[in-house]
Amino acid sequence: MSESEASADGTGNDAARYDVVVVGAGTAGIPCAIHAAQAGARVLLVEKDSRIGGTLHVTGGHMAAAGTRRQAERGIEDSVEAHLADIRRISKGTARDDLITIVAHHAPETIEWLADRGFAFAPETPRIIYGHEPYTVARTYYGKDEGMSILAVLEPELQKAMAEHDLTLWTNAPVTELSTDDNGAVVGVTVYRDGKDVPVRAAAVVIATGGFASGPELFQELEGSPLVSAAARTSTGDGIHLGLAVGARLQGKGTYLPTFGGLPDPRTPGRANWSDRQRLTSERPPREIYVDKNGRRWVREDEESIDEKERALTKIPDQTFWTIFDDAALSLATGGLNQMVVGKEPDEVRAMMDNRPGLHSADTIEELARKAGIDEAGLVATVAAYNRAVEAGEDPEFGREYLPAPIAQPPFYAIRNHAITLVTFQGLDIDESFAVIAESGQPIPGLYAIGEVIGAGATCGNSFCSGMLVTPALTFGRLLGTRLGQELAGTAATIH
Ligand SMILES: Cc1cc2nc3c(=O)[nH]c(=O)nc-3n(C[C@H](O)[C@H](O)[C@H](O)COP(=O)(O)OP(=O)(O)OC[C@H]3O[C@@H](n4cnc5c(N)ncnc54)[C@H](O)[C@@H]3O)c2cc1C
Repeated sequence: MSESEASADGTGNDAARYDVVVVGAGTAGIPCAIHAAQAGARVLLVEKDSRIGGTLHVTGGHMAAAGTRRQAERGIEDSVEAHLADIRRISKGTARDDLITIVAHHAPETIEWLADRGFAFAPETPRIIYGHEPYTVARTYYGKDEGMSILAVLEPELQKAMAEHDLTLWTNAPVTELSTDDNGAVVGVTVYRDGKDVPVRAAAVVIATGGFASGPELFQELEGSPLVSAAARTSTGDGIHLGLAVGARLQGKGTYLPTFGGLPDPRTPGRANWSDRQRLTSERPPREIYVDKNGRRWVREDEESIDEKERALTKIPDQTFWTIFDDAALSLATGGLNQMVVGKEPDEVRAMMDNRPGLHSADTIEELARKAGIDEAGLVATVAAYNRAVEAGEDPEFGREYLPAPIAQPPFYAIRNHAITLVTFQGLDIDESFAVIAESGQPIPGLYAIGEVIGAGATCGNSFCSGMLVTPALTFGRLLGTRLGQELAGTAATIH
């Protein structure tokens, strides 16, 4: 359908009219729009960026599902109940049980849907991922090109749906406002397009605008934590503002958890590069120590639980620390999971030293401390104490057991790390039908939300649970799109 057809309503009201408007063409929004259109609805998908995909351009794209064909082919026994039990265990029961139940039951269909459309699974998947608290079974899947492998399926599917169904895509078109009627029901949106405000009427509006980890002001207001972001630059929290303006209630307060890793971004202070990160997890026994700006250690570096380490990091006021190691340790950090920086062999790491923000080398510990901005006396004392612990074979301070060698062979290195924010945990409260809930506790008629705009806390609780953002985004998108499409097909014609 052409845009002009959509705009002409013949009643003197020049607003374009649709059955469903989906705000945000990302992980959740694209499948929602496709399914709504396939179910017969007249759909407008509105994207503020010049390109579609949102966080799919940067995400690892890990997904989790139990009982898939791919597991069966590899002889992996799994069940929805086991998946749910793992999510409850990892999140310590802090995720929304109603929502994780929907995800766990429908996630296998999402994986098969992708597989049937040629999704390029990384050959080693499904596997158990140790970057987060691990599942008990190999049920994490990702593409060979991470999130881009998902987009490689969604983009042609969207094109196909636009060719075969009543689906229109606007890019460079931020939604700036939701319109409501006298009863508070959402009846449309305002889109800023081609330099002007364009009113659009709709029977249902789906907010799928992502999180707010690239929105420092909102982040400060809601989380009040230091922000070093590695999120997509489009994750500015627009959907939260849109929802709050029509009386929506937030959920997920107190569930925020930063993660580890991400070297300082060379171009933008205050951001981290997720693709360039140190291996700090249980995948690699550490030959380094972690110190804060006073030069003091703050955690047992060989602690296997990444969750414990992430929580310990949040106790450091500026949530910043440095890994300290010597050249002997770096020389041994070669090959895959053993590398000090993901994908970088020792010589590549050496070449980055003193050439990128936050990476320093020096011939003495004193000089290293000065270059890195760590308290000199503190670091000297800590390295000496650590070396004594290595010699004694016992770490009285933190109980670290892996004590392979002293930090003694120059040059010495320091890499700055922050608690980094990939995802945000608060978001618009929704019910089991994905309807946005108002402060009154009642659903706001006509308004739905899916994806990270509902907050990571909804499906991960106060934890990181493998795949439990991408999987819900895709799965809720598919479910809601299908349902709205079936319920609302044809209603645009009757909107006044
Ligand atoms: C580096 C990184 C790695 C990650 N790895 C994983 C992982 O392995 N597994 C996992 O489960 N999760 C992971 N996540 C989280 C997960 O990828 C995201 O939570 C999820 O992709 C978000 O999907 P979404 O549809 O909510 O938002 P997005 O995919 O970001 O889509 C939102 C879209 O809305 C658009 N938009 C925003 N505001 C407006 C507006 N006003 N008008 C119109 N359009 C608007 C945006 O431009 C964007 O295109 C990771 C996140 C990051 C940053």
